[in-house]
Order: sequence, then C-alpha cells, then structure tokens
Amino acid sequence: MPELPEVETVRRTLNQLITGKEIARVTVHLPRILQRPREAELFDAVLTGQTVRTVERRGKFLRILLDQSVLVSHLRMEGRYGLYRADEPIEKHTHVIFHFTDGTELRYKDVRQFGTMHLFDPGEEFTLPPLMKLGLEPLDEAFTFESFEAKLGKRSTKIKPFLLNQEYVVGIGNIYVDEALHMAGIHPEREIQSLKKEEKRRLHEAIVVTLSEAVEAGGSSIKSYVNGQGEMGMFQHQLKVYGRKAEACHRCGHVIEKSVVGGRGTHYCAKCQPLKAKRLHKDT
Ligand SMILES: [Zn+2]
Repeated sequence: MPELPEVETVRRTLNQLITGKEIARVTVHLPRILQRPREAELFDAVLTGQTVRTVERRGKFLRILLDQSVLVSHLRMEGRYGLYRADEPIEKHTHVIFHFTDGTELRYKDVRQFGTMHLFDPGEEFTLPPLMKLGLEPLDEAFTFESFEAKLGKRSTKIKPFLLNQEYVVGIGNIYVDEALHMAGIHPEREIQSLKKEEKRRLHEAIVVTLSEAVEAGGSSIKSYVNGQGEMGMFQHQLKVYGRKAEACHRCGHVIEKSVVGGRGTHYCAKCQPLKAKRLHKDT
C-alpha cells in the first residue's frame, strides 16, 4: 500500500500533469470505486465543465481541487493514475476515465479494486469521512514535538500499532513505521507509557526525517518515472530495515529480525532497538 511519500509523489506529479485541464466528461466502468456520490451519472454531471485548480494531499488521500468540488481519492493497494492521449488503447483494470477538453485523459487503474473516490463541496471534505477523523500531518509545520507528545499521551498501547493508526498520525504505513522506529532505536512493541522523553524526541525526529527523505527520493525520480508509461504509483526507496530479514543491520551489524506486531510483519534490530532497556543493565 502506498504510504505518505508515494502518495506525495503522485500528488506532485498529478499537480504538474492535470492542473488547468477542464473535464469534458467522466466515464465510470466500475461504479463501486465511487463512494460519494455512488451514481456514475451524478459523478459525471457534477465534474463535467470543472477545471482542475490544484492537487493536494491529506495523509494517504489525494485532494483534487476543482472549481466547485473537491475529489478525494485513495489508491489503497494498487490504485494508479496515468495521463494518456484519448486515442491510446485503454488497458485492463481501467475503472474511471476523466476526459479533458484538450484531448488527454486521466485514467484510474486498479487491479485490486479497493481504491475509493469521494466528491465534496470545497471544505466539506474535512467534516465527513474519510478525512474527518485524521490525525497529525507529519510533514506539516504543525507537527511539533509538543503536538506529537500530547498525542502519544500515557497509553499502554504498543508504539507500532499507535503509529499505524491514522487517527493519531497520518501517512505512516508498515514500511515507514519500521524504518522510523529503527532510526529512533525503539522496539516496535514498546508500550507508549514506557517511553522516555528523549526517546519520544528521537522518534518524532525519525518520523520527519524518514518521510522527508523518502519524499525527496520520490521527487527526484518523478521525471523518468512518468516518462515511462505515463503512469505513476509505487516505487522502491532505499530501506534500512524493512524487508531485510536475516541481513545485517547497517548501524551495528546485528542480524535484522522479523516478527508479527499487531498482525503486521515487523522488521527490527534487537540490538539497536531493545525491548526492555532495563535488561541491558541486569546483564552487565
Ligand atoms: Zn542494529
């Protein structure tokens, strides 16, 4: 599933490709992608004649701002957008096509069919699902250490499931949560109430650094990426711990372990990220 950096890359790319284009009509081949309104005819009627003003992001959701509407789009597992000429063949799994007046088309392709689209009046999107209950935006200036510490509170929840919960902090998924916890030297199963202030500070910084670096990596690859198929979506970043089971930790050389935390495959270095800080003192 794309996480904040991938969605941010798609946002930037879409913003370059479709801003200023006017929608001539919308074709919907798979109505279940539409969550609001659910009727393809109404979706088409509302969007026709509107021009794309800009593309923004909230968590893992794209916000496509038009003259009088906001289209909120979630790619979920396999969603992809691509810009094509109208005469190019339509590929399999293309579910929604935004036809522009300049003869190009934004096509939404989704093999798994889990993606969603919601249409709102401007501003209304923040008062209703799916954006209503979203948590802190980690690359915003408002994501200060104080705001993060307040959100953490004194819960007995394990830190990894907390970070994956979009109601607390948005945009972090299974890959970047493992990366950030490794950078901060915090075991994924540590209870929040056991974290020292210094550890919370390290974690706050690690979240920002991890996501920013991944956004930069994605940003620098936009050009070649789009020129390939005219399609944008996931790509691989340099990962330090995720997917590296049984390989050596870049920091200490210890072997990277994999376990299941909160039902999710979890990669960590038991030496850099000890579960119980006290045990180190007992042993020595
Ligand atoms: Zn290590």
